[in-house]
Amino acid sequence: MREMNKATAELQEEMTQRIALNPGGTRRIGNFGFIELEETWGDEATIVNTARISTTNQRLRNQGDFSAKDRALLYQLLRDQHGTPFETVYFRFRFIAPIFVLRQWVKHRISSWNEFSMRYRRPISVAYVPDTAACTVDHFAVLDETAVAEYEALMTQLFAWYEQQYDAACARIDQARSAGVLAPKAGGRDPYRGRARELLRNVMPVAAYSDVYWTVNFRSLMNFFKLRRKKDAQYEIREYADAAYALFAARLPLLAETMQRVMDESVTEIPDPADHG
Ligand SMILES: Cc1cc2nc3c(=O)[nH]c(=O)nc-3n(C[C@H](O)[C@H](O)[C@H](O)COP(=O)(O)OP(=O)(O)OC[C@H]3O[C@@H](n4cnc5c(N)ncnc54)[C@H](O)[C@@H]3O)c2cc1C
Repeated sequence: MREMNKATAELQEEMTQRIALNPGGTRRIGNFGFIELEETWGDEATIVNTARISTTNQRLRNQGDFSAKDRALLYQLLRDQHGTPFETVYFRFRFIAPIFVLRQWVKHRISSWNEFSMRYRRPISVAYVPDTAACTVDHFAVLDETAVAEYEALMTQLFAWYEQQYDAACARIDQARSAGVLAPKAGGRDPYRGRARELLRNVMPVAAYSDVYWTVNFRSLMNFFKLRRKKDAQYEIREYADAAYALFAARLPLLAETMQRVMDESVTEIPDPADHG
């Protein structure tokens, strides 16, 4: 892979720093991927206290105060789909993932997104490259080493083309300014460079990495886990969903355990039509 551009080298450095600062709350995924559970708001007590607005003035300080009765209430609320108390606990993840993973992830509309912008910055000049596990289905390599090497070379060409064209566009703009064809740069963003970035980003592949803050409430996060940790979800988003689950479970183990119990119990066997008498 070609040398990284400045934005990418900075991002790599930032990931290293985040991992050092928050080792239990971060994971590396694939060749350049990353996820961090940066912040959470609320815990199991928030959920139970919210539900108790209907029935009592008793409140818990935090999950440390939980009795068996409180645990039973948490389970019952989840099992019986009392949805709104579970909307009062929030999570903020940051993840660096390929754009094709983002396209699946963004379909989870009940959440807030903030994404790295190729209108304002050069792209992250690294593409996702599938490793052996990603290329293998039932011990069969669907892409061999030669195909993966060619794939990587194609990505490298695209990034190199972007950088060459962007540098050339910047040089043209600077020249036109020096010649008085364009007005000198005023404060703020340069509209000419900005337009060049807007157009050049169109050649970026969906394998290029992007950088996202994802803020989501627990009800919606649970839906994400349910749909994206399943076997039929694509391998790459499953890796992120599994990592997000592990980070969440380490932060709120009682909620994770209760959710898993309810999910396991709700799995109903689809009857085989051949079994009907
Ligand atoms: C294996 C798999 C394959 C998929 N394939 C495709 C595909 O080929 N093409 C494609 O476009 N998508 C596809 N999806 C995405 C899927 O259709 C959902 O958009 C995605 O999983 C988000 O789920 P959600 O709508 O439950 O989540 P959210 O958007 O977060 O919504 C959460 C919940 O809010 C409610 N809700 C949200 N918006 C509305 C609304 N407008 N009206 C009513 N209720 C609403 C629903 O109860 C919903 O479950 C796939 C998903 C999976 C897991």
